[in-house]
Amino acid sequence: MSIATVAVIGSGLMGRGIAYAAALGGYQTLVHDASSEALARALSQIGRDLDAGVARGKVAPEGAEAARARLSTLAELDDAARAADFVIEAVPEDLALKRSVFARLDALARPGVVLSSNTSALSIAQIAAATGRRDRVLGMHFFNPVPKMKLVEIVRGPETSEAAVAVTAEVARGMGKETIVVKESPGFVTSRINALIGNEAFHMLGEGIATAEDIDKGVKLGLNHPMGPFEMVDLVGLDTRLAVLEHLHRTLGEKYRPAPLLVQHVKAGRLGRKSGRGVYEYPEKK
Ligand code: NAD
Repeated sequence: MSIATVAVIGSGLMGRGIAYAAALGGYQTLVHDASSEALARALSQIGRDLDAGVARGKVAPEGAEAARARLSTLAELDDAARAADFVIEAVPEDLALKRSVFARLDALARPGVVLSSNTSALSIAQIAAATGRRDRVLGMHFFNPVPKMKLVEIVRGPETSEAAVAVTAEVARGMGKETIVVKESPGFVTSRINALIGNEAFHMLGEGIATAEDIDKGVKLGLNHPMGPFEMVDLVGLDTRLAVLEHLHRTLGEKYRPAPLLVQHVKAGRLGRKSGRGVYEYPEKK
């Protein structure tokens, strides 16, 4: 089946970025959110992102216009599910909620349609089990901010078919993204590696091996990462990072035990940019 219409379910931080990339990639893009305010906010943010893309010379003015014309918002999930050739779900990270959304999507979407989830960590097997099409359910893990980040991790559940992976890779490519294919496992590829690097950086800082600035500088200039581990964790949120590490520690073992200094920072409310203080200070946010 060739994919013309993509439905995006949930239009928060990730859903609106996904809708932006889908519309710009040439897909008729139907965006649904349970909240009409969120839907209106998403539409105006996508408009601003398109304007910013044009201003930076990344998007042709005609391309932005065409993308706007391809976007529509739908108040009812059922309408989006019925019309879609491919579905990308981006509702909050709550298994019961995702399972109920997938059961509804499964009941209404045409039988061949692939249902994908942007989950960061939940089990694809458990989401797929809420449907009658386990072979056509998989993870499609985008990165924030979606318009700028090139990668999509395609996450295969135990019953996901090759055909579903192939269709998803084609849609991701159409949206201008590169893909990797990962077997369902805690942290997939990227979060697992990133959590370990970030945790090691906290161990080193706690042991007084180098300053935070020098650890960041070493990783950027010596290893060619665009951001240092502390710049990155301040952006992601130290509480979010701690939650990921705790999950990896529980599921994969001792190697992932959160560093004491990270735990201490979170207890002290040093959560990163969002709280005005993480590893670094952000006086303007306090
Ligand atoms: P968000 O809270 O910004 O957006 C979620 C949206 O879903 C909200 O607008 C909410 O109104 C809507 N919603 C809630 N229940 C709904 C329902 N039943 N039907 C339709 N819409 C509903 O969350 P987010 O940060 O965009 O995260 C969405 C998903 O993407 C989560 O699974 C998250 O783990 C994953 N993710 C997030 C990031 C990130 O950096 N934030 C990165 C990768 C993946």
